[in-house]
Amino acid sequence: MRLLLISSEAVPYSKTGGLADVSTALAKALASAGHDVSLILPHHVEVQEKNKRPPLSLDGPAFPVRMGDRTVQARSGWDVLKAPGPAGEPREVRVLFVDQADYFDRPGLYGDPVGDYEDNAERFIFFSRAALELARLLALRPHCIHANDWQTGLVPAMLEDDYRGTPGFESTGSVFTIHNLAFQGSFPHWDMRRTGLDWDRFHYTQLEHHGRLNLLKAGIAAADKVTTVSPTYANEIRTEALGYGLEGALIARGSDLSGVLNGVDPAEWSPENDPYLAANYTAENVAEGKAACKAALRQELKLKTPAAGEPDPPLFGMISRMTDQKGFDLIAGCAEELIATGAQFAFLGTGDPRYEGFVRHLSNEYSGQVAGVVGFDNGLAHRIEAGCDAYLMPSLYEPCGLNQMYSLAYGTVPVVHAVGGLADTVVDATPDNLANGSANGFVFTQPTPPDLWEAVSRAAECYRDAPADWAKLVQNGMAADHSWDASAAEYLQLYQAAAARHD
Ligand code: ADP
Repeated sequence: MRLLLISSEAVPYSKTGGLADVSTALAKALASAGHDVSLILPHHVEVQEKNKRPPLSLDGPAFPVRMGDRTVQARSGWDVLKAPGPAGEPREVRVLFVDQADYFDRPGLYGDPVGDYEDNAERFIFFSRAALELARLLALRPHCIHANDWQTGLVPAMLEDDYRGTPGFESTGSVFTIHNLAFQGSFPHWDMRRTGLDWDRFHYTQLEHHGRLNLLKAGIAAADKVTTVSPTYANEIRTEALGYGLEGALIARGSDLSGVLNGVDPAEWSPENDPYLAANYTAENVAEGKAACKAALRQELKLKTPAAGEPDPPLFGMISRMTDQKGFDLIAGCAEELIATGAQFAFLGTGDPRYEGFVRHLSNEYSGQVAGVVGFDNGLAHRIEAGCDAYLMPSLYEPCGLNQMYSLAYGTVPVVHAVGGLADTVVDATPDNLANGSANGFVFTQPTPPDLWEAVSRAAECYRDAPADWAKLVQNGMAADHSWDASAAEYLQLYQAAAARHD
């Protein structure tokens, strides 16, 4: 199939969260499976800074983009991502950038430390229409377009209303994926005029939510197929508790809404060939490999190394946006008890100043036992995954979650709250699950500090007192297949079904 993915971020060019990992990994997996794949991204300033290769030249077509009654000029550039093909034969993803210096030449993708950019509606309405226009100019003729999150939520409606009759788009299907329902792109209704879409779209509730223009809702309503990133989250968002006011719009899509679990890109996250680690390892030498990585991590983070003969405390890691969603409130609510387990903790993240201050405070107060690094550091994220024994993910909600899957792949036992993708990937270490070989972590069901503490205590106890069970958890986690192949195959079925609607 000829496939076009449109996303606001993708590694290695730009990243604020999981969407960046998913965009690239899915595009590569589809290319590896033999499809013709293009990925369109905004040319954020990060593209130039993060991309280690020579700067991308913006020598693609320059073209006007209609923004209601205005026209804004766009430039474009391109790059290529390599993907492995069968029998080592290389495959490629065509990466296309849309540039508009006034919109994308800024330090952040969506905002700065003060808050979201005030013209985000304009920026991403522009990007959505420019992506379709670039696809037309380059005659990509996609069988299906896959848009992601609120930033590209207008793409399915624009495709339907403004491109359907255009050569190359007559039978193009659309798939829209929700990576996090909490971020909806809700803007004043007057931004509607920039979309170039008919007000009927707004009034007949497709784009309107509580009187405002809601870009996520636009994608939910107009795409042929709607997905989210885990089967459990696909059900949770149809309830009032986790539907963020859009549960009605989601329920209305019936069986057109489904969940496809994200995978892990082995080129990025595999302990066997991870360039950031002190030692590489596989399931066969995981004990020695992790011991070397743990020793190096303790040194790097100034965590205490036990003297010879002393018990080796388990080391718990966490790499995360520091927000309420990620469960920092729960950690703060039982911090003393967690410390009293004697385990060590390594936190890496940025976010809410309250939580940044909290981990800084813990690492000062309990230096040697707790390390709190406030910052964004990909290499350290890899070393935490490899060097820790266990991984904390007490999220209040979690659409899919990537770090629990990275943890499983690195033999690092996840401790999670049973929601969304965490519930779909982590199986609790009950005696039954240990006996039947399915256990790979520690799961708690109520998002309260005592429940988190209980799960961490169980993990610490198992690490200390039941090394054979612990080794089983590690092996079960490492044996799981979280490659993108299975997920890419599911997306393909959806692309085919979406395109078939326009035959
Ligand atoms: P979300 O997309 O909700 O932030 P995910 O678990 O889906 O959460 O993905 C987060 C991704 O961002 C992971 O790849 C994680 O390792 C990475 N990440 C988050 N914070 C940091 C940080 N401070 N430094 C390095 N990587 C980070």
